[in-house]
Amino acid sequence: MKTFDEMIEGYARFRAGDWKRQHERWSQLKEGQSPQVMVISCSDSRVDPAQILDVDPGEIFVVRNVAALVPPYETTPGRHGVSAALEFAVQFLKVREVVVMGHGMCGGCQAALTQDLHGSEPGDGGFVAHWIDMLDEVRDPIAAEMGTSGREAERAMELAAVKVSLANLRTFPCVQEKEKRGSLKLRGAYFAISDGVLHLLDENSGEFRPAS
Ligand SMILES: [Zn+2]
Repeated sequence: MKTFDEMIEGYARFRAGDWKRQHERWSQLKEGQSPQVMVISCSDSRVDPAQILDVDPGEIFVVRNVAALVPPYETTPGRHGVSAALEFAVQFLKVREVVVMGHGMCGGCQAALTQDLHGSEPGDGGFVAHWIDMLDEVRDPIAAEMGTSGREAERAMELAAVKVSLANLRTFPCVQEKEKRGSLKLRGAYFAISDGVLHLLDENSGEFRPAS
């Protein structure tokens, strides 16, 4: 894998290539952004939503974090980064859709399943442990039924995490209100790294199906 200094060569290619090719687009973008879609995805280096969805700059407003999670609406002290990004996207950019994109082989979901980091100190696994403990409730029946290792249990955890984030999105009053009015749509998705297939959640059946 490349170092950041080596990636500067990529930047040189971007300046000479895409930046020039899309000059008109970039001059519009300097006036501001108006994406229609917000994507919440994992920080995992293998799942870049802009690459998977093959979109241009300015098209998706993205938040990436460990396991692609949305915490519930909370007004507790502390810095609420996901809530701030969500608020900005929904209330100011007025995006029309919010997509939660989980993925296969997710280390964050695996840690939620094994609970290996439980009890760790902040800075030594504790931040991750407390972040992913929002999955504890859905984790327990999965662990009881399928155990805490193996792809079957891990995949079940990964898919359940997308549903938890969608449920948490609906605890935000602005999301609730806009979804009810029909001006905001929530979508669940799952990118299977092993075969590169994107699955979309059908919330009526609870099933994830390959996107056509
Ligand atoms: Zn992940």
